[in-house]
Amino acid sequence: MNFDFTNEETLIEQLGEPRVTSPILREPNIDPEKDFTDDTARVLVNVNPDIIQARIQQGKTPLSFEMAGPRKKIFFDASKVRCALVTCGGLCPGLNDIIRAIVLELYYRYGVKSIHGIRYGLEGFIPDCGHEVVDLTPELVANILNTGGSMLGSSRGPQDISQIVDSLERMHVGILFMIGGDGTLMAATKIAEEIGRRNLKISVVGIPKTIDNDIHLISRSFGFDTAVDIATEAIKGAHNEAEGYPNGIGLIKLMGRHSGFIAATATLARQDVNFVLIPEIDFDLEGDHGLLAALEQRLKRRKHAVIVVAEGAGQKFFGDGTNATDASGNIRLNDIGLFLRERITAHFKSRGIPISLKYIDPSYMIRSLPANANDSVFCGFLGRDAVHAAMAGKTRMLVSHWNNHFVHVPMSLTVGKRKQVSPHSKLWWTVLEATGQGRFTNSG
Ligand code: ATP
Ligand code: MG
Repeated sequence: MNFDFTNEETLIEQLGEPRVTSPILREPNIDPEKDFTDDTARVLVNVNPDIIQARIQQGKTPLSFEMAGPRKKIFFDASKVRCALVTCGGLCPGLNDIIRAIVLELYYRYGVKSIHGIRYGLEGFIPDCGHEVVDLTPELVANILNTGGSMLGSSRGPQDISQIVDSLERMHVGILFMIGGDGTLMAATKIAEEIGRRNLKISVVGIPKTIDNDIHLISRSFGFDTAVDIATEAIKGAHNEAEGYPNGIGLIKLMGRHSGFIAATATLARQDVNFVLIPEIDFDLEGDHGLLAALEQRLKRRKHAVIVVAEGAGQKFFGDGTNATDASGNIRLNDIGLFLRERITAHFKSRGIPISLKYIDPSYMIRSLPANANDSVFCGFLGRDAVHAAMAGKTRMLVSHWNNHFVHVPMSLTVGKRKQVSPHSKLWWTVLEATGQGRFTNSG
């Protein structure tokens, strides 16, 4: 993997010199040497020894990220600082786990008592929207783990950045935690810029949310594991349906607007899938090498088939330039699931072959469910490390997971870039081996 940034660009912006002794140091049984992380602790970006060697030979230090964790000296005085927390964009399993982890860490570990929950995403900052602020306490968040969604609600749609910063000033907020996807991180960057222009000391820390696991420089994002788990159940159901009828076809549409990680990973978890279609890999329907011919062959041989399609796959079938956008400017994808259902049904009808096709779209159910055990653990780490970073006065950064460690990544390094399934990766090759599907293109 190539990375087009320098070590200087991985440095995390500080609001100022951290001069306050962390209240954690006063806890009993704390080892000042072993229980804290220094700003000098780093995690290698690339662990390939050849790449490291090559950099050293060029006189450059290997690329690395700052390690997350509690600092001995912090920037904010816990007894005075006020924090705000907002969740934006689509729902994702684990949002409540993160809210809970942030609140508990702030309250019990640092002694921060003033934590504002902003309702319904960025709308919550805008006076005209009229959403009241929720005061977040340990009691309020104690039991939110079993409910999915976000206890604060969310929204899409642009809001005036200067009004958002006005609102932060009015509330005397020192730390803003923003949990959301690429759009939220763009908004967070603009909010941090406006804060800088006004010379305010407000830390903006992001926790990247992407159920599709597609954010650049984030090796794993929360909610993905849960999504794969539940998608696997849907595949199981589709397979049972398909096997139960002659020429049964189970067609499942999964999340994955630009990246097919959920579809590919769920397929490996439940290898009943015969065909996987993801945005990164082109495919044709018609012709000797198209999907329909392959499906017909499969039905002839085995009498049933399971197809998984990621929502962003096959958008070429809808022509270009006709896509509408949602309130936040995200392109509304055409529905490849319904399209495939129609085309498959029409194909077999025209050939006089009876089929029984069951279409399953579990997307909204998956997004809104609570996190599974793995994701809950992961969210706990993310939320607590976000608190450590923010209390230390770090800003314009997000908490990421990289090479098995939690790290700080400047927002500027991730915005506008996306992680995708490489056709040459072990993941995709194993999918091809597990399904035996080959390629569905007529172009060679
Ligand atoms: P998802 O992955 O679910 O789409 P997201 O964070 O990308 O999550 P969006 O609805 O796209 O969700 O964006 C969240 C919020 O950030 C919205 O209120 C949106 O208007 C705002 N936003 C998005 N892009 C920008 C931008 N370039 N500048 C300012 N605000 C933005
Ligand atoms: Mg978005």
